[in-house]
Amino acid sequence: MTLTVLLLNACVAFTGFYIISKIYHSSLFNSYRLRSSVIGILAGALGLFLMYNAVEANDMVRVDLRHLPLVLLAFYGARFPLFIATLVIASTRFLFGMTEQAVIAFIATFIVSIGMLWIHRLLRERLFLQSIFLNVWALFIISIAVYINMGWSTAYVSLVLSIWMIGMLVGLLSSILTIDLEQTTRRAIEYKQSSERDHLTGLYNRRVWDRYTASIGQENRTYNVLALDIDHFKHVNDTYGHGNGDLVLQQFANILKVETRAHDTVARIGGEEFVILMYDLTPEKVDKVANRIRERIAAELFHLNDFPPIQITTSVGVAHGTSLPIKRMVDLADSALYQAKHEGRNQVVVSTYDTPQPIMT
Ligand code: GH3
Ligand code: MG
Ligand code: MG
Repeated sequence: MTLTVLLLNACVAFTGFYIISKIYHSSLFNSYRLRSSVIGILAGALGLFLMYNAVEANDMVRVDLRHLPLVLLAFYGARFPLFIATLVIASTRFLFGMTEQAVIAFIATFIVSIGMLWIHRLLRERLFLQSIFLNVWALFIISIAVYINMGWSTAYVSLVLSIWMIGMLVGLLSSILTIDLEQTTRRAIEYKQSSERDHLTGLYNRRVWDRYTASIGQENRTYNVLALDIDHFKHVNDTYGHGNGDLVLQQFANILKVETRAHDTVARIGGEEFVILMYDLTPEKVDKVANRIRERIAAELFHLNDFPPIQITTSVGVAHGTSLPIKRMVDLADSALYQAKHEGRNQVVVSTYDTPQPIMT
């Protein structure tokens, strides 16, 4: 019977951990507060389930694992959900009367949570060690709280031994599960990033650009495509070396990030060819933005290894249109870029629909 209840507790704890971890890493809720509240309430409910289904170690001794959901939230450093779950678990005891034991259990639960957050901060990257310390800390405080309530006796020793044995067993097993989930999630995020980002500049790569822009143009919305190509970049590579060329590309990309808005899409689609997607700007406004970027590049000092800083320029072709397929817009931007190169470089040409109109700068 004891074993069955222990297994039931462990299974419910594992399942709860899995669901809470999934919600923690998901983008299910847009609002941070809502997501944190859901996680906190779920963890609190899990704690209550574990409390009411305590394991009966013998006729006298009942061990519950209500602290485990708190360990999970501390492991994630999820302060607000941890606060809610702690409040839920700690205050439920008061439903059975305002006793001294209930007050001690309430205070002990908060001490467990605060201490665990501190442990999380100290051992953030040492996942397994952190889990062990979180479990040990929780069991340590629980043992003290039980001592205050019961005093020293053989019943106390027997209870505390059971608490430590069952607590460490289920605690460490659920920690292994949590660590595995955490590592899998971290790896998935890393793989996603490396498949979407250009490794040199951190901008979106061509694959993401193609995927992201595939459906653009079907909606009746005005948008702009800016095509940028560094002027005489071969000269930079030939004179200062390929490594320094890479440094220039990185600084160039950083300027594009700084000079665009968060909802603009910036991608490196070729060696030193970059594209930017911008919505809802008039031709005059997009010309201004493109010239601001061009001027910023021309004014910037690009720092190299073993050489003094250099200056470079860029040509920009802009396509402005409404409801045009993306492929058509990229072609327009490329033609405008070609024209900017042809007319002397370091300039912007805006092409509206299909009539390229040079704008002299
Ligand atoms: P233009 O003004 O006509 O654009 O002249 P350009 O010299 O810039 O000519 P082009 O755009 O054709 O040259 C691209 C050069 O970019 C050629 C290639 O060696 C270099 N390149 C492409 N990818 C990389 C890269 O990842 N790192 C470095 N350092 N150079 C690259
Ligand atoms: Mg070039
Ligand atoms: Mg080029």
